[in-house]
Amino acid sequence: MPFKYDVYDRSIYREPAPIDRDNPFQAMMERFDIAAEILELNPGFYEYLYRPARVHITSIPVVMDTGHIKVFEGYRVIHNDVLGPSKGGIRYAPDVNLNEVKALAAWMTWKCAVVDVPFGGAKGGVVCDPSEMSPGELERMTRRYTANMIDVFGPDRDIPAPDMNTNEQIMAWILDTYSMHARRTENAVVTGKPIGLGGSQGRVEATGRGVMTVSLAAMEQENIDPSDARVAVQGFGNVGSIAAQLLQEQGCTVVAVSDVTGGYYNTDGLDIAAMREFVKSSGGTLDGYAGADKISNEELLTADCDILVPAAKEDQIDADIAENVQAKIIVEGANGPTMPEADDILNENGVIVIPDILANAGGVTVSYFEWVQDRQGYFWTRDDVEERLEQMMTTAFNRVYETAQKHDVSLRIAAYVMAVGKVSEALRLRGIYA
Ligand code: NAD
Repeated sequence: MPFKYDVYDRSIYREPAPIDRDNPFQAMMERFDIAAEILELNPGFYEYLYRPARVHITSIPVVMDTGHIKVFEGYRVIHNDVLGPSKGGIRYAPDVNLNEVKALAAWMTWKCAVVDVPFGGAKGGVVCDPSEMSPGELERMTRRYTANMIDVFGPDRDIPAPDMNTNEQIMAWILDTYSMHARRTENAVVTGKPIGLGGSQGRVEATGRGVMTVSLAAMEQENIDPSDARVAVQGFGNVGSIAAQLLQEQGCTVVAVSDVTGGYYNTDGLDIAAMREFVKSSGGTLDGYAGADKISNEELLTADCDILVPAAKEDQIDADIAENVQAKIIVEGANGPTMPEADDILNENGVIVIPDILANAGGVTVSYFEWVQDRQGYFWTRDDVEERLEQMMTTAFNRVYETAQKHDVSLRIAAYVMAVGKVSEALRLRGIYA
């Protein structure tokens, strides 16, 4: 019987992905270019930061269950490691390609720099269809990919994490394979692994908690009292449902949420805990939930609220929707939910957009905590993780906010200015090795 990949636990934390366009590298570069211009970046540094530092392509032979050998193509791109070891997920998908992996690797460099974790950016991928592979085939492919990358990966060199179609189990196999070659257990070689192998407390909630933290920081800047704030959240999965729950716990009134089955509205506030329970007991969606009025996806995005959290998928807010957004603050829990043409309209209408690169960086921040704990061999409590996460996210938000004011740009551009500025300053201090 063909093995279906989703019998594994789903990955909770996935590394971020940029807007999935025909040319993702170009999409990433558009923002880099604006930041480089504002920073008057030295042309030599521009050239250096534009290119990945290293690109690894490998053939991965796997003995399939039929006994035949199939050869998969695998990639690992290290975009930059000026600030520290490179960090980034590994994706398994039939349409993974080198251009996409390069873009995602660069994106990780900027994302780590925004939240001030001492990592560079990387990304990996294997061209395969996991839904057509047995657990044994997936394990053999993962182990051979790891063995082929043995000189690339390492706790001080390059640290993989889960991404599309990879999860805790796959991280555990990478950890084990790497450790077998190293002749010692190296749990800091990957993040996003099971707690029993050195994973971190608080990882499951990390991205939603980060969304809540930057939302509160933005409300403070805008003099909105959380107890007066009305919130709408698109998407009720890992990021959206946890962000909704935590914002409600902070006193906000969550008036609308949605998932793939549509929107749910209650002007007096929804019972998010009850809705999360409902989702757990009813096959993963809100379909049939009775404590709310049904609304459309568009009605949710343009609902009368103060905070809008798009936390479902990319390209949700187009120019038409942007014209009608009533929220004062948009917090991008998802990657790339706002289309570029909508960005300008929102700016003109005075809507503050906390960009994905900052708003959903809670996950990568707790990945950093996981690596720190593994290297210390000392594990933090959930309270420690939550407190440190909130501290780092608030600091990052305040720095991006100040940068935006200083250069009179949007928070999105400010985040890139801050990130490119940090990496290029490190490069300047280190100098170019002859
Ligand atoms: P998930 O699969 O757990 O949840 C996605 C939710 O969106 C589900 O409730 C689904 O029903 C809903 N949805 C799908 N299509 C929709 C539509 N058209 N309208 C309304 N709702 C819709 O995913 P997640 O992990 O919560 O990730 C959500 C977004 O956040 C993605 O863009 C992801 O890349 C990004 N992100 C996630 C993490 C993380 O740690 N999970 C980290 C960074 C970024």
